[in-house]
Amino acid sequence: MMGNTNNEIAARSDQVFIGTYSRYPAAMVKGAGCRLTDAEGKEYLDFLAGIAVCGLGHCHPAVTAAICHQAGELVHVSNLYYTEPQTELAELLTAHSFADRVFLANSGAEANEAAIKLARIWGGGERYGIISLTGSFHGRTLATVAATGQAKFQKGFEPMPEGFSHAPFGNLVVLDAMITDQTCAILCEPLQGEGGVRPLDREYLQGLRALCDKHELLLIFDEIQTGMGRTGTLFAYEQLGVVPDIMTLAKALGNGLPIGAMLTRKGIAAAFTPGTHGSTFGGNPVASAAAVATMKVMLADGFLTEVRAKGNYLHEQLQVLAARFPTLAAGARGLGLIQGLVLTEAGVEKGGLIVTRMFEKGCLINFAGNVALRFLPPLIVSREEIDQMIQLLTEVLGEM
Ligand SMILES: *Cc1c(COP(=O)(O)O)cnc(C)c1O
Repeated sequence: MMGNTNNEIAARSDQVFIGTYSRYPAAMVKGAGCRLTDAEGKEYLDFLAGIAVCGLGHCHPAVTAAICHQAGELVHVSNLYYTEPQTELAELLTAHSFADRVFLANSGAEANEAAIKLARIWGGGERYGIISLTGSFHGRTLATVAATGQAKFQKGFEPMPEGFSHAPFGNLVVLDAMITDQTCAILCEPLQGEGGVRPLDREYLQGLRALCDKHELLLIFDEIQTGMGRTGTLFAYEQLGVVPDIMTLAKALGNGLPIGAMLTRKGIAAAFTPGTHGSTFGGNPVASAAAVATMKVMLADGFLTEVRAKGNYLHEQLQVLAARFPTLAAGARGLGLIQGLVLTEAGVEKGGLIVTRMFEKGCLINFAGNVALRFLPPLIVSREEIDQMIQLLTEVLGEM
């Protein structure tokens, strides 16, 4: 007999998995909208959405229908042949962004790898250096770990691949001084997600654009977490008055099916020719069909306007909470429905405990960058669900 309580499933997992994760003691069995249900029937209000992945919530009917339909038609052929789902996805991505060329991958790290390789081959060999920012997160492969500006992700895996350096967050003067004849690109998240919901301001990002123009560098925006409607526009760059040369996407692109994308313009894309880069699964028909269905829902009239309105509402409620618990919380920050409650020094000590108490009370949030509680609800979240989360968080902060 296979066990089926949370603890039984957890115990079986611990016998067979390599220990890369520390998990909460729940085995999830079902999801609908903003709710998850575990193996023992306990419900959770999900304010993480699989780490900004299920933008349309769990098992959105349009996405489920697209997956089921495509799974009955064709699941995989590799990129030796064309398929319509991936073509339609690339058409949608280019029609609604600065880009006119797309490469499809299976994850965020792979989309960033594609961007890094494109920047290097575009740089022609002599120019290979990529400058990213401290506090950033770009993935777990060796090159993306090297690009990531947090030592804890690199520790033990040295030596890092060459050609990556990190400029201090928000400081243009230092970054300018780091640019050399070998530099080919600047890589940054318009708002750092894993780093603790840290937005970069418009002036800084516009300054980056100006530096890239002056030194003929590529500006790469990692919108893996901020893209796909999360900030209240389809892509965060639209609100910031800065257009990148390359943009990477993943997370919410397939509403839960693994898919990533690297977008750019024709002239830059031309540096990649047949055989220079590729992926067996990238642009898989089922994942692409899920992404097409996801994009169509997000592009429907009023959807993103609602995300902005609900984002403002969540932000205000978090500000109220911060004012009520000033010893624990310093304030709220974020854009749209990626919001953080920045903790004080005393609050940071309790960050892990707050998340655990929220979990026990049936609400999923996390603690990002050891500085902020992070809220990433499905974009379809209701105001009532925001109120419920705030109510639970008020109780938990009251306990501390
Ligand atoms: C999650 C994330 C990645 C990595 O994506 P994976 O799909 O886990 O490889 C890269 N960059 C940012 C900004 C992310 O949030």
